Order: sequence, then structure tokens, then C-alpha cells
Amino acid sequence: MAQHTVTVRGLVRQFGPRRVLDDLDLVVRQGEFVALLGRSGSGKSTLLRILAGLDRDADGEIAVDGTVSVAFQQPRLLPWRRVWRNVSLGLHGVDGREVAEKALAEVQLTDHAQAWPLTLSGGEAQRVSLARALVREPDLLLLDEPFGALDALTRLAMHRLVDDLWQRHRPAVLLVTHDVDEALELADRVLVLDEGRIVAEHTPPAGRPRRHADLTELRARVLA
Ligand code: ADP
Ligand code: MG
Repeated sequence: MAQHTVTVRGLVRQFGPRRVLDDLDLVVRQGEFVALLGRSGSGKSTLLRILAGLDRDADGEIAVDGTVSVAFQQPRLLPWRRVWRNVSLGLHGVDGREVAEKALAEVQLTDHAQAWPLTLSGGEAQRVSLARALVREPDLLLLDEPFGALDALTRLAMHRLVDDLWQRHRPAVLLVTHDVDEALELADRVLVLDEGRIVAEHTPPAGRPRRHADLTELRARVLA
């Protein structure tokens, strides 16, 4: 039986009177690529923060096995560190500079290695955040709408990068997105979060690239 990297049962997260996550169950298997769709405000970022250990006020069973990297929806870069330092910070026993520069080349930001974070555009900051998550080669990669601020061409390049990395290192990935095509193209399994729990699950046919003719129902659930 495949090992689980994430096991969540009966997860409840309440803000005041509002139950944002309500008896949610979720399993992510080792090496599996899962996409999580859901309307704005449905609790996707809240779920990722809980899995990352950044929100400890939830109830229920939450088990995360192994090392975790997160790329946040709003990139959180240290403004007083240059871009390459933001990527390499906290890496132990390696040449941080070299590793950072390689990762920055992969996200097409070679020219920005020496820049200060506050001079970056939103899309550039997002890619630095992605590079920082990728260099850690985590067991679990949590990606919160990491491509949202990117132009279409750069987004495609980043899709390829994440897919390549996943094929090579096989981390478990939980990708939050509102882009149905992106979810279907990248993920083994697509989940829809609504009313505080997973309300739909879709397994795209194996093989890439994936194109899907009949997405009507899935779209309706996410975009309605
Ligand atoms: P999503 O990422 O799916 O757009 P979020 O997880 O960011 O949604 O937020 C889900 C809901 O929880 C929203 O209504 C949001 O306002 C609320 N929420 C999130 N964090 C907090 C917080 N720290 N305090 C109060 N409400 C919050
Ligand atoms: Mg969010």
C-alpha cells in the first residue's frame, strides 16, 4: 500500500462563528500530484497553512510525513536580503550561492539574483518564491496559486518546470489553483473544495500532455 504523506481526518477550522473547513478529509499519497480547486474564499489557503504547520488552531487529525516547502499565494520574501539569499536561506551543507543561481535560472530570473525583493514585479516575486520552495527538494510541496501573477508564456514554462521537478524527485505536491486546465494537465488527481470539505474528485486519464473534452461538470463546480 502506498505511504501517505498527508493524512487529514475531520479537520475543522473556525474563524469566529464561521466554519471555513468543516469535517474535511484528505489523503495525499507519497509522490502523488494533487490539484485543489475551489472558489475564492473556500478555504484553500487556510488548508495549506494548516498543513504547513503555520496555523495550529485547527481541530481534527492532521499528519504530515517528511519535509515541507511552501510557495505562498502572496510571496513572502525577506526585503533586506538579496533575491539569491532569499532562495538559499536556511540551506545547510551546500554552496547556497550556486544552488540559488541554478534555481533562479530555472525560473528565468538569472538577471535578478542580485536584486532586492522590493524591486521585483508580482510575477517575479512569485517565481523567486517558487525557486525557494523547489531548491529544498521537499517530500511535500505546497503550492498556493503559484502561477497566478504570471503571463501566459511564463506560466507554461513554470508548468513545465514543476512537472519536470516532480518527475525527477517525486515529491508529493498539493497545488492550489483556480485554473481547471492547469489542474488537469499537471495533476494525478483533482479535488474540489467547497463548503469546507472536498466535494468532488476527478482522476484525469494517465499520460501527458492531457487534454480534456468534457469538463463541464468540473468547471461548473469551480466557477459557478
Ligand atoms: P481561499 O484561499 O480559498 O481563497 P482562504 O483560505 O484564504 O480562501 O479563506 C477562507 C475564508 O476564511 C475567507 O472567508 C477568509 O476571509 C477567512 N479567513 C482566512 N484567514 C482568516 C483569519 N486569519 N481570520 C479570519 N478569517 C479568515
Ligand atoms: Mg487563497
